[in-house]
Amino acid sequence: MLDLLVKNASLPDGRSGQDIAVRGGRIVEVAPTIAAQAAQTLDAAGLMLTPPFVDAHFHMDATLSYGLPRVNASGTLLEGIALWGELKPLLTQDALVERALAYCDWAVAKGLLAIRTHVDTCDPRLLAVEALLHVKKKVAPYLDLQLVAFPQDGVLRSHGIESLRRALDLGVDVVGGIPHFERTMTEGAASVKLLCEEAERRGLRVDMHCDETDDPLSRHIETLAYETQRLGLHGRVNGSHLTSMHSMDNYYVSKLIPLMAEAQVSAVANPLINITIQGRHDTYPKRRGMTRVPELLAAGIDVAFGHDCVMDPWYSLGAADMLEVAHMGLHVAQMTSVAAMHQCFAAVTSAPAKIMGLDGYGIAPGCHADFVLLQARDPVEAIRLRAARLAVVRRGKVIARTAPNTAALDLPGRPAQVDFMPRRDG
Ligand SMILES: [Zn+2]
Repeated sequence: MLDLLVKNASLPDGRSGQDIAVRGGRIVEVAPTIAAQAAQTLDAAGLMLTPPFVDAHFHMDATLSYGLPRVNASGTLLEGIALWGELKPLLTQDALVERALAYCDWAVAKGLLAIRTHVDTCDPRLLAVEALLHVKKKVAPYLDLQLVAFPQDGVLRSHGIESLRRALDLGVDVVGGIPHFERTMTEGAASVKLLCEEAERRGLRVDMHCDETDDPLSRHIETLAYETQRLGLHGRVNGSHLTSMHSMDNYYVSKLIPLMAEAQVSAVANPLINITIQGRHDTYPKRRGMTRVPELLAAGIDVAFGHDCVMDPWYSLGAADMLEVAHMGLHVAQMTSVAAMHQCFAAVTSAPAKIMGLDGYGIAPGCHADFVLLQARDPVEAIRLRAARLAVVRRGKVIARTAPNTAALDLPGRPAQVDFMPRRDG
């Protein structure tokens, strides 16, 4: 007897008419026709079943704080950091926990079941760290939360290494950094070395905010790739943002990208944030500021799209919808070929799962029975429609449902209803 049987699903790799059998929280079989008894059946009716959305770059300590204590008037990164500085002394643990849990509710509703969140370690009280460690434990049955020790004010600039180490001692999973915010290029490079060595000693992964600037001479990614290589951290280091790469000299980048590939450093672009925050010192032409996603992918580098912010000092919008993130990434990077659009879908599913080192991720026998039924037939349609999450399943149990997106029409001689999915004959 199965716990759950999904009938007639399409999968992101293009297979259609698949049944998925679940027992004990795991997928036990994927095949065209499975004729076993099941406690519960979910008819996919030909629509696409995808592994859950994954967000490899977020700030859950700041989320849903929009307007506290005021709104970011200029919309710049630096005013956002200053505003976060004003908010920090006013934070309470209860309010942090409540906002984070509320965001996780939104995430589950949108089929987003794994999030890597940076947590500011510069406050010596480690209020946000303790709050998010509590949240991580609380949401573990339905959402995988991975925490990054993030010295927002610069680990050297703010003398923050001791509080960062205490955060890691408390159980924070990943070592973060922000080299471009240190006082000088030299100190930025020194911070990369210091933090990578800390990760190496502890056997942890690294994920740095790296070169989130339009300055083409901000080249900390080069140091990050070098330290990864030197310390043998291959495949465990990620550079987040990397926006300076947008403005770098092409000749320099032709050397840099192979160095990243050699060190197996992955990249996370944050299209919603990068497109609103970068290029703010430009008149016209105005740079887009997102890193070179197609070029990185062509070099075999793992690239994910992150949400980064939702309703916080840096970004006023957002609703935990990774399809909205993929949609923006596709447009900003002009990834409009069919193959590239599939890569944009992978950038919010399988790529961030790999970057975070999630185990048992995917729709295959042995994987966790975690998946999302979308009101779409393939990845391109999912992005085009920011498709409704008809059912969200965690460990074989449906934990969220959304009604299909349809509109009723009252037009002479026209259909009574539209769902924005054109007929496919044959
Ligand atoms: Zn960030």
